[in-house]
Amino acid sequence: MGKKKFIYLFNEGNAGMKDLLGGKGANLAEMTNLGIPVPQGFTVSTEACTQYYEDGKTLNDEILNQINEALEDLENKTNKKFGSHENPLLVSVRSGARASMPGMMDTILNLGLNDETVEVVAKLTNNHRFAFDSYRRFIQMFSDVVMNLDKRRFEDILDEVKNNKGVKFDTDLTAADLRELVEKYKELYLKELGNEFPQDPKTQLIESVTAVFRSWNNSRAIVYRRLNDIPSSWGTAVNVQSMVFGNMGNTSGTGVAFTRDPATGEKVIFGEYLINAQGEDVVAGIRTPQPISRLKEDLPECFDQFMNIASNLEKHYKDMQDMEFTIEQGKLYFLQTRNGKRTAQAGLKIAVEMVEEGLITKEEAVLKVDPKQLDSLLHPNFDQKKLDQAKVIAKGLPASPGAACGKVYFTAEDAKIHNAQGEKVILVRLETSPEDIEGMVAAEGILTVRGGMTSHAAVVARGMGTCCVAGCGDIKVNESKKIFEVSDKVFHEGDYISLDGSTGNVYGEAIKTVEPEISGYFGIYMSWADDIRSLKVRTNADTPRDALQAVKFGAEGIGLCRTEHMFFDEERIPVVREMILSESEEQRRKALDKLLPMQKKDFIGIYEAMEDRPVTIRFLDPPLHEFLPSEDEDIRDLAEELGVSFEHLKGNIESLHEFNPMMGHRGCRLTVSYPEIAEMQTRAIIEAAIEVTRKNGFKIVPEIMIPLVGEVKELKYVKDVVVRVADEIIAKEGIDMKYLVGTMIEIPRAALTADQIATEAEFFSFGTNDLTQMTFGFSRDDAGKFLGDYYDKKIYDFDPFVKLDQDGVGKLVKMAVELGRKTRPDIKLGVCGEHGGDPSSVTFFHNAGIEYVSCSPFRVPVARLAAAQAQIRNKR
Ligand code: PEP
Ligand code: MG
Repeated sequence: MGKKKFIYLFNEGNAGMKDLLGGKGANLAEMTNLGIPVPQGFTVSTEACTQYYEDGKTLNDEILNQINEALEDLENKTNKKFGSHENPLLVSVRSGARASMPGMMDTILNLGLNDETVEVVAKLTNNHRFAFDSYRRFIQMFSDVVMNLDKRRFEDILDEVKNNKGVKFDTDLTAADLRELVEKYKELYLKELGNEFPQDPKTQLIESVTAVFRSWNNSRAIVYRRLNDIPSSWGTAVNVQSMVFGNMGNTSGTGVAFTRDPATGEKVIFGEYLINAQGEDVVAGIRTPQPISRLKEDLPECFDQFMNIASNLEKHYKDMQDMEFTIEQGKLYFLQTRNGKRTAQAGLKIAVEMVEEGLITKEEAVLKVDPKQLDSLLHPNFDQKKLDQAKVIAKGLPASPGAACGKVYFTAEDAKIHNAQGEKVILVRLETSPEDIEGMVAAEGILTVRGGMTSHAAVVARGMGTCCVAGCGDIKVNESKKIFEVSDKVFHEGDYISLDGSTGNVYGEAIKTVEPEISGYFGIYMSWADDIRSLKVRTNADTPRDALQAVKFGAEGIGLCRTEHMFFDEERIPVVREMILSESEEQRRKALDKLLPMQKKDFIGIYEAMEDRPVTIRFLDPPLHEFLPSEDEDIRDLAEELGVSFEHLKGNIESLHEFNPMMGHRGCRLTVSYPEIAEMQTRAIIEAAIEVTRKNGFKIVPEIMIPLVGEVKELKYVKDVVVRVADEIIAKEGIDMKYLVGTMIEIPRAALTADQIATEAEFFSFGTNDLTQMTFGFSRDDAGKFLGDYYDKKIYDFDPFVKLDQDGVGKLVKMAVELGRKTRPDIKLGVCGEHGGDPSSVTFFHNAGIEYVSCSPFRVPVARLAAAQAQIRNKR
C-alpha cells in the first residue's frame, strides 16, 4: 500500500474535495484550476487533523515530511525560499473546515519573517515601513493565536507608541516607529512566554499548523459546532499560501465582497476594501472601509478585472460568492471564495431569482437555504406606529435585519446569565469576536461600535438570524464601566433599548413588536419545497390560536394536542383538583362531568380551526400532583373550597407525591387506575367532532392517542374503554363517523414490542422526548445541568433532546417502524417529539419511512423545507 497523502498542492485539488481539503482549500484549488490569479500554496488535509488527534496531538513524521516536500515545491514555484537572505518566502496560514467556522483559529499572515528576513524584505521592496509593519503584525498574530498571548497586550503597546509620537492612525507611524514597536513586541513575548520569538520559519510554520489543529477543539469551536450540526469527527484543514501584500502603498489594498447583497439579496456587487492595509484590517473594523464601488476610481483596471472574475465565480458555483482579495502594487489576487452567508430574506430572494435567471433548477434552489434560518423570517417586527413615535438616538449599519428590544449588557457572559434568568437582552460591544458567541446566541439583538457589514458581528448575526446594528460610531461604549453614552444621555446595564436591524436605527426605549409579514419570495420558495417533499408536516398545538398560526405556516394537521395544557386554565384548575382529590369513583365522575363541557368546547375550537385536516388528540399525560398546590397557604384555601380539613387534604396530597414522577403514575397508567378520565376525554372528543361535522360539513376522523404505553395489554385496556364510549355515542347519534385509536411510542419497551403493540394501535406517533429520556436514562428536566460536561469532554457533540440520537434512539425508531408495519402494513407513522422540527432529525425520519413529523407552529416551515431537502438528497 502506498503512503497516505496528507498534503495537496492547490493544483492537485478541486471544489469536490471539501471533505478532505475543507471549504477554503477546495475552493482555492478550484480557482487555481479556473486560471484565476491565486497566490500558490498547499493544503494540509482534514485527515492530517484526525491523524494529529489519533497520534496524541502530534504531527507524525509522514505529515512533517510531506509538509517539507510541499514547501519545497512552493519555493520552486515562487522562486523564493524560507529564511532566504536573497528572496525570502512568506506565507499565510489559515484554518478551513468543511463548513466555515468562525469559532476556530482563523489566520496568521506574514509567516517567515524574522529579524533577518525583515531586513531583506525591506531592502527588496525598498520599503522599510512596509517590512516592519508586516513583522509587527506577524508577531502579534502568532503570539495571539499560537501562543495564546492576548492581542490586546500588543494593541496597548501600539496605542502607547502612537500616543508618544502624537499620531492618530497606524498608517502615520514611520519605519523607525515600527522598528521600535517590533522590539517592544519581542520583549513582551520573551517576558510573558519565557522564550525568544521563534526565528526559524519552519518552526513558525509547524507551530502554526499545530495551533490550527488544536483550535478545532477550543470551546468556541465546540459551541459553534453544536449550534450548527457539525460533528467533531470532521476535523479541519490548514491552508498554507504564499503571501501577497495589500500594505505596500497606495496601489495596494485588500477587501472582501459579495456578488449580491447578503442582507437583502439584491443583485448588486457588495463589499468593502481598504487601501494600504492587510487582511484583518477590513473585518476588524479598526479603520472604516470604502465601498467597493470606489475601487473604480482608485484602481479602475483592478476593478474591471475584479468584477469580471466575481461574475464568473458566481456563474461557476451557481451561488452568491463571498470573496476576499488583495491588490499588491496594482496586481489583483483572489485569496478566497465561498458561498456567502446571507439573511433568510436574502437567501429566498437569491434562490428564486437564480431560478428565474436560469442559473439553477428549482431543486437546486430548494437546497440553498438552511431550514433553521427560516425561523428568523417568522419572528416579530416593530409595530410601525410605535416606531414612528420613537426617537432615534443613534444610527449604525443595518447588518442583520429584524427587530429587537431588550435590556443592554456589555459582556457575552452577562448577556448569557441574564438571558438564562428570562430577560431579553441586547449585547452591546465595541466589536465582537468569536469568544462572544454564546452571548450572541443569548441576545435578541447585537449592537457594535466598530466594524462594517462584513465584521464578525454582522456575519455571525446574519447566520444566526439575529438582529444586528454594527459600526454604530454615534455611541460611546465604556465596557469596563458597563455604560454607553449617546448625545448627553448615559445608558447603564439593564436599561432598555430597541434595535432595528433593517435600518440600523437605535432607539433608547422599549418598542412594541408585531408579527411579521411574509414576503412573496417565501411563498414561491416554500411552494417549490412542498411540491418536492413526501414527508408531511403537522403541528403540536393545544389551542385554536396556535392551530391557526400553524396552518398559516403550512401545517397539514395537528400531530399532538396535549390535553393537560387545557387543564391549567385558571377557571378549570379548581375542578381539576376536585377530580384528582376525589376519594371515590362517584366523586370523581361528578368532577369529570364538570370538565366535560369545557374540554368539548376546546376540541370544537380546534376542529373548526383545522377544518378537514387530521387532528390527533392525546389523553391526559402528566403525573396528577403537578396540578396540586404545594404551599400550605394554598392547601388551606383548597381545603376550605372542598370542605375538608387542612390535615386531611395535606395528607392526601402527600400520598400523591412521587420520587420519580417522570416514571410515575402518568400517561395511560392514570387511565388504568381511573378509566372514567378516559371516558370523559373520549366523550369530549367524539361529541365535538360530531358537532363540528354537522355544523360545518367537515369530514372529521378523530385520532385518539394514548400516551406512555409500554405493553400491548395496557393499550388494549384503555382502547376498550375508548371504543365502548365512542361506539355508543356514534350509534346513538346515528352518524357515520370513523375514528382511530393509536399510541405514542415513547417507552423503549413499546419500540421493542412494536409488533405486538400494532395489533391494537392503528397509528404510532413517536414521542422522541420521552423516548430519548428513557433510552439515555437522562431526566428531561435535569440533563441540561450536566450535559455541558459531556460536550467539554467530547463524549457527546449535541444535546440529544434537540438533535435525535440516531445511533441509539434512532435505532429504536427504525425497529418500531419495521415491527409495526410487519403487523399492520397500513399503520400510520408520525413523530411528535421536539425533534420533529430539527432539520437533521427530520432527514432521519424521512429516511426511516415516517409519514409525518409534528412540531411547534414556528418550526413548521423549517420542517417543510428540511423534508424537501431530505427528499432531494435521498433521491441522489
Ligand atoms: C414526547 O415525549 O416526545 C412527547 C411528544 O410528549 P411530551 O413531550 O408531552 O411528554
Ligand atoms: Mg411524552
